[in-house]
Amino acid sequence: MIDLRSDTVTKPSAAMRKAMAHAEVGDDVYGEDPSVNRLQAYAADLLGKEAALFMPSGTMGNLVAFLAQTRPGDSVILSAEAHPFHYESANLAMVAGLLLRTVVDPLGKMTAAQVAEQIVQTDDPHFSHTTSVCIENTSNRGGGAYYSLEEVEAIGRVCRRHGLKLHCDGARLFNAAAATNVEARYLAQPCNTVCFCLSKGLGAPVGSVLVGDSATLHHARRFRKMLGGGMRQAGILAAAGLYALEHHIADLAEDHRRAREFRLALEADGVRFCLPSPTNILYMGVTDAASVVARLAECGIRVNGRGSDAIRVVFHRDIGDADLEEAIAAFRDLAVGRGA
Ligand SMILES: *Cc1c(COP(=O)(O)O)cnc(C)c1O
Repeated sequence: MIDLRSDTVTKPSAAMRKAMAHAEVGDDVYGEDPSVNRLQAYAADLLGKEAALFMPSGTMGNLVAFLAQTRPGDSVILSAEAHPFHYESANLAMVAGLLLRTVVDPLGKMTAAQVAEQIVQTDDPHFSHTTSVCIENTSNRGGGAYYSLEEVEAIGRVCRRHGLKLHCDGARLFNAAAATNVEARYLAQPCNTVCFCLSKGLGAPVGSVLVGDSATLHHARRFRKMLGGGMRQAGILAAAGLYALEHHIADLAEDHRRAREFRLALEADGVRFCLPSPTNILYMGVTDAASVVARLAECGIRVNGRGSDAIRVVFHRDIGDADLEEAIAAFRDLAVGRGA
């Protein structure tokens, strides 16, 4: 099977499994797991922040970031395409008690001016107070669109001017860094907190890391425990994450190259893509998504449908050049995106 559904399907390599098998461990709820502590120190340093916290998932990392920096009844500004808006089971509303003010843009991005327009900070008791902003870099539903450094800095300035916390859902922050050729810590600098996933294109089996200042991360640790995210000998998992950060970041650019080659090959045949695809995620227009997904599966290719008229194709480290060629050939044979 050539699995192009998501970069979450990546499996740990033999070398990563070896690092996991040899990981030194302790009880991380006591702060005594040396491998978790090493991962957290490494991640904080890599993103230029004071502190880091290992999380079971990106969903928990995002939620904890808001629990630690907002109060129930506050409002948060985010894109109408944002992952926390679509795919996190309404946790910001239900668990953090936040009102979501959305900005509509197909790429899942917001400009500093759009953010500024959505801020509500009046004493009039009719209104919820805006206290935070969430950007997603890169944007999942936006076809892997990224924020440039200048764009993040401009939003950061608006946030500072209004006393707002800026959180980055950086599930794929290192893809943004690869695409912009800007180090991840610069993209993180304007943000109070960033959560990035180890379990996507970086290839670890489980986990995300939340980074930020020490005081915020101190609160975050309590909220992680409250949500049941306090793990014990988590060093087995942290060792995989550390291995991924040390060895796999540089490979993300290869995923982007393969995504580009895939797109160019099919566009030459007249296939239409719905959005730009500057990183590893592509959305392709089709006439009947369910039937395309089923017919590709018969050829050993797995993709996800998006609605009834588009499919999503994601490149990742378990897809090599031979798989790329095979996928292009299958899409051509089935005329996917050209009447199919
Ligand atoms: C995958 C993803 C998450 C959530 O991560 P999980 O580990 O699956 O909970 C959050 N944001 C974005 C943009 C994602 O792609």
